[in-house]
Amino acid sequence: MDEKTLNELKSRLIYLRNEIQQRIKDNNDRVRSFESGDEGDFSNSISYKDLTYNLIEKDRTQLIEIEEALYRMENNTYAICERCKEPIEIERLKAKPTAKYCAKCKHIIESHS
Ligand SMILES: [Zn+2]
Repeated sequence: MDEKTLNELKSRLIYLRNEIQQRIKDNNDRVRSFESGDEGDFSNSISYKDLTYNLIEKDRTQLIEIEEALYRMENNTYAICERCKEPIEIERLKAKPTAKYCAKCKHIIESHS
């Protein structure tokens, strides 16, 4: 992968990381406001709270994937498939910068799960 593409992907990952960190913070604030009981109907608050927790969990998982991708960039193992050790398709990384597997391995892994 050329340096320009790598830098583009890196800045996108950093941008995404900031965005997600902000969203987790907002959602945590929201959970706290539910807990303070100012949100009207209590039963509604509970389901919104669960929903918000789910969002936070999803964001945390994504945040870990981003951290791992940035770590791989630092260690020059980025864009190498973790399964077959072949380079991951650039187009695939542009669509999903946190991809760990090439398209072929991804397909194999998904068809087995
Ligand atoms: Zn592979």
